[in-house]
Amino acid sequence: MAAIAAVFTLFSSGDKILIARSVYGGTFRILDKVFSNFGIEYQFVDTGNADDVDKYFTPDVKAILVETPTNPLLEITDIVKTSKIAKKYKALTIVDNTFMSPYLQRPLTLGADIVLHSATKYLGGHSDVVAGVVAVNDEDLAQKLYFIQNATGGILQPNESFLLIRGIKTLAVRMQRHQQNAEQIAVWLQRQSWIKTVYYPGLPEHPGYAIQKKQAGGAGGMLSFELNDGYEYEKFVNSLKLVTLAESLGGVESLICQPASMTHVSIPAEIRRKIGITDNLLRLSVGIEDVEDIISDLDQAAEEAGN
Ligand SMILES: *Cc1c(COP(=O)(O)O)cnc(C)c1O
Repeated sequence: MAAIAAVFTLFSSGDKILIARSVYGGTFRILDKVFSNFGIEYQFVDTGNADDVDKYFTPDVKAILVETPTNPLLEITDIVKTSKIAKKYKALTIVDNTFMSPYLQRPLTLGADIVLHSATKYLGGHSDVVAGVVAVNDEDLAQKLYFIQNATGGILQPNESFLLIRGIKTLAVRMQRHQQNAEQIAVWLQRQSWIKTVYYPGLPEHPGYAIQKKQAGGAGGMLSFELNDGYEYEKFVNSLKLVTLAESLGGVESLICQPASMTHVSIPAEIRRKIGITDNLLRLSVGIEDVEDIISDLDQAAEEAGN
């Protein structure tokens, strides 16, 4: 959040930032509750179809912030197309790349101006460090951000820096395993009678499949699924033995969360329902455990949840 705050501090009163409909809850919250007090406005846009984004660029729009895949619905935004449109209006393209990590997706090479990472997640990889990254490829912008960082105090301590460097050394092998496990689990979930929908951009049925394939090295380790009617999400998550009910993601251990009451609770219920974050939607951060262990855990929890 310090990285995100530093980036938003680049803007001034009267500027508007376009954000995707299902951005990270904290990103919405900091715009809605903090930066709005300083006259920085935001507007929700549907970034699912890049051609539609064009119509939102009024002269006060200074940036567009996208997450791809989004949290928790794994919607895909075309980074090349979006940044081309933003450039036309001299607006910055900001990509929160937390879900992919630099191993799977490098938005600066696709035309983005600013890339954000919650390094708390995959970069750290072991759920033992809170850190953030801002990456740019423009010296001016780098200096501005460095000035803001120094002036406002959002810096990383030596021990956190150490943990982060240690985590990054295994990023590649962890991401390969996260992704391999997620792919298998997504395919398995699709075949289960207790499942209504599986959201994973590595499935050919996913509407963003082709774009994901073009712009990233894979679909990553995050997936969401909706339990069928008649299955209680509370019973489901409480019956899990290996997978832990917790916020956060990107660590070596599998974590599950219910976005409606956890990560996305600060989004009003009515907007939440409208964008598909129902009570029965669960988000799984697939860990690097033996995939069969994760699958049998989900399987036995579903049996409990249906009774
Ligand atoms: C967790 C997360 C953040 C916030 O990161 P912190 O490290 O918790 O401050 C921002 N964006 C995304 C997509 C996240 O998942």
